[in-house]
Amino acid sequence: MRRKIVAGNWKMNLSFQEAEELINDLIDVLEEESPEAEVIICPPFPFMELATDYMEEGLFKVGAQNISPFDAGAYTGEVSASMLKSMDLTHCIIGHSERRKYFNEDDKMLTAKVNQAMAHKLIPIFCVGESLPEREAGKHLEVVRRQVRHGLFHLDTDEFAKVVIAYEPVWAIGTGMTATPEQAKDMHAYIRTLITERYGNEVAQATMILYGGSCNSENATEIFAQEGVDGGLIGGASLKVDEFISICKQASV
Ligand code: PEP
Repeated sequence: MRRKIVAGNWKMNLSFQEAEELINDLIDVLEEESPEAEVIICPPFPFMELATDYMEEGLFKVGAQNISPFDAGAYTGEVSASMLKSMDLTHCIIGHSERRKYFNEDDKMLTAKVNQAMAHKLIPIFCVGESLPEREAGKHLEVVRRQVRHGLFHLDTDEFAKVVIAYEPVWAIGTGMTATPEQAKDMHAYIRTLITERYGNEVAQATMILYGGSCNSENATEIFAQEGVDGGLIGGASLKVDEFISICKQASV
């Protein structure tokens, strides 16, 4: 079985001091526990350097929660892929449902962000997932198909091979309502079918597809045991060291 990925999305939480404490605590535990899983943490931009300062120790990689669709210049308030790359970040979450919802990020903008990530050698963690009404209407496959195709399928094979996908049913994010293991497994299999159709089976099998949505220390083992689930994108639980480390360990077996 290949090495899983556990990525922590801190969202817009914590003060500088709290972030420093969380990183220090994480380092202490990771040094002792050294889980097999690849650990990525995605702090808010102002706290990024707290994390990148410790990256060389190899305990975790650091990702951004967002990037600008633009390259550089007069875009007040934006943070570019090249800035993040110059700080040695490796990953970038793109298309999170909170950005799609609260910042109106549509397929066109997400394509531009993916292109920025590619141009500056950041690995996109590209999020897809349906809302509850969409699932209840039986439209979940159609929605995810559109998101995957529009966001990623313009990439050539070499570029696509670098992408990580996160299946995050919107109704499961921050709600405590996790997808059933079956639902996660089925959607991961479906995404792999789409990738096979576009890029072939070898690329599809090699693509890392994470599950995200109320994943915690109680349910991680069962979710990660599902065929085709290559790890997790963790929101709320990534802010608690014990929870996050427990999830990382459960991704290591
Ligand atoms: C997320 O923000 O990507 C996420 C999965 O959040 P939570 O784990 O809190 O549901």
